Amino acid sequence: MMVLTKKMIEIRGILQTVGQSNALTLPSIVVIGSQSSGKSSVLEAIVGHEFLPKGTNMVTRRPIELTLVNTPDSQAEYGEFPALGLGKIADFSSIQRTLTELNLAVPDSECVSDDPIQLTISSPHVPDLSLIDLPGYIQVVGHDQPLELKQKIADLCDKYIQPPNVILAISAADVDLANSTALRSSRRVDPRGERTIGVITKMDLVDATRGASILNDQKYPLRLGYVGVVSRVPPQSTSLFKKGSGNLSSIISRNESAFFNAHPLEFGPQAGVAVGTTTLRTKLMHVLEQTMAASLQSTSAAIHQELEEATYEFKVQYNDRPLSAESYLAESLDGFKHAFKEFTESFGRPQVREMLKEELDQRVLDLLAQRYWNKPVTTLSPAPPEPDSLADLPKADPESLYWHRKLDASTSALTKLGIGRLATTVVANAIQANVDRLISHSTFASHPFARQAITEAASGILNERFYSTSDQVENCIKPYKFEIDVEDGEWARGREHAAGVLKNELRAVEEAVKNVENTVGGKRKLRDVMGFVEKTRKGEVVVEGDGRSGAGGFSSDLLQKGKEALFLSDRAILLNLRLRALKSPQCATKINKYHCPEIFLDVYLQTVLFLNVELLSEFTYQFPRELDIRLGRGLRQDEVEKFAREDPKIRGHLDVIRRKELLELVLEKMEGVRDLERGRGKSGKKS
Ligand code: GDP
Repeated sequence: MMVLTKKMIEIRGILQTVGQSNALTLPSIVVIGSQSSGKSSVLEAIVGHEFLPKGTNMVTRRPIELTLVNTPDSQAEYGEFPALGLGKIADFSSIQRTLTELNLAVPDSECVSDDPIQLTISSPHVPDLSLIDLPGYIQVVGHDQPLELKQKIADLCDKYIQPPNVILAISAADVDLANSTALRSSRRVDPRGERTIGVITKMDLVDATRGASILNDQKYPLRLGYVGVVSRVPPQSTSLFKKGSGNLSSIISRNESAFFNAHPLEFGPQAGVAVGTTTLRTKLMHVLEQTMAASLQSTSAAIHQELEEATYEFKVQYNDRPLSAESYLAESLDGFKHAFKEFTESFGRPQVREMLKEELDQRVLDLLAQRYWNKPVTTLSPAPPEPDSLADLPKADPESLYWHRKLDASTSALTKLGIGRLATTVVANAIQANVDRLISHSTFASHPFARQAITEAASGILNERFYSTSDQVENCIKPYKFEIDVEDGEWARGREHAAGVLKNELRAVEEAVKNVENTVGGKRKLRDVMGFVEKTRKGEVVVEGDGRSGAGGFSSDLLQKGKEALFLSDRAILLNLRLRALKSPQCATKINKYHCPEIFLDVYLQTVLFLNVELLSEFTYQFPRELDIRLGRGLRQDEVEKFAREDPKIRGHLDVIRRKELLELVLEKMEGVRDLERGRGKSGKKS
């Protein structure tokens, strides 16, 4: 049993995942030969299946790194392309198709590529071997092929036939050995013939004496010798084999034995030559095992070196900080949730209030002006008494249907204005914007996947709550129900707040009057203009035309300013009036709500606010849970890995850790193999 090769092949598999480093490649058997020398036939005879690309148009364009794994305990035969993740392929014609496609994917302009295709074939009928099949050498470049093709193939082969690889040089018996490109190439890199096995194919095409003399070649003697084979499938068996009713190896070997047995003098045991595919297989196994053993020392030294480099990089660049994709995600998520918590602590009722205040207060003021404060009040004459006048408001009869309707109409006007929806939109947008800000300040900023997950988590919750919140706002303040629900405390707060709003408005109006005063050139001048405008309004003065060219000695511009100032001072009077009313004991209790619609509407606003604060607190509760689902427990391992690798720095960090771990694992396995070798050495000496 070739235990060493098996273990080394396993190690090679691990090393392949560590990354490309030539120092870390374990020895392989590299198969070279001219086109049509029978290279594919030999490989297929070893594997026992037809699986290599066939065709006239140079189908092998990439090296095929073929790993054969002997599986004595299972009858299953299958191939795998580890880099493609296609799983186990039991149908060898499907393997052949995949190989053909992979090869033909190399563009004609490139002709050959040195990017290897990895293929592992597991079967109880194959030996543990690691072989590399290369494009066949060509003698003449075809008319549709690039001129440099010949050189490119030769260069590619040269790259692979370097030590410690074993060279399997294929030459056809019917071609003079002196003309064998494979042997010529191998001689260049292995002049003493120490690591080359010569394979002479198509032994059936030359007469036996000549065949035997080729195998005894002395011009280029090989320490590992020549093996003669007949690896063609006999024509009469082709259809039988294709139907799957026969094993290729046994068919070939029967045909081969028949041929060699027919010439016992030349190829029999006494002849001292090596013939047959079975002999070749055994030879390959032994040679590879020995080569592997010989390279143990240098390979493990190379791995040690590589591990040292990885350890150094880990220390210098990453401060020996342990990291896994999971821990990175968990930390990032914790950090984000922490930042969100901080945000919620600074974003509560007062902030929501502040945000909505201007929007909402202004709308209430507009409504009041429209519905309650709409009677002109002038400085010069008191308004004529009217049942619905502003002046009557303080005496509003709570039994009167008129005042009921007016207040109801006002609240429902606010509702119809869409104040619920407006407020909810403002709050939801603010939350979303803050979540976006938190993302851009978090580690998730460089992770498109997580960004999207978080944004979706937030908008998911907000969308779901949006309609319920704005509906709630609208339901809750249906006038009748709302009226019952208003509490004394709320009323008192509303009173205070409404007074504040009116005061602010008053201040703004006074400011505006000052501005007009300044633009017209003083208090006195403004009073004169205002007096004139007032007179025209009352009809005491008649202005000719439309007054566009001025009147009463005032320019039209001045008259316009006068009108504006008059409006503002009316507004100031009105605001003062209402402020006094709000402060009066009458407005201290909600029983008198008809007297002070300002307070009532303010309480209404507080409810809108309250419901939006509810939205915020529901969000605060729900959001971290949603994050856990989308970025925590809910993620599959490969998604976590994909997430972490989005960040180049983290990718580098994870890679160096993985590299280190794999190299340590390889070294441990190598140590096991070396122990085995040492044990073998000792027992060998004893016997
Ligand atoms: P490659 O181009 O080097 O891979 O060569 P192939 O394995 O495709 O073989 C080229 C041709 O030689 C095919 O037609 C094979 O059937 C034929 N061939 C291969 N080995 C033998 C052999 O041992 N004897 C005979 N007579 N023909 C063979």
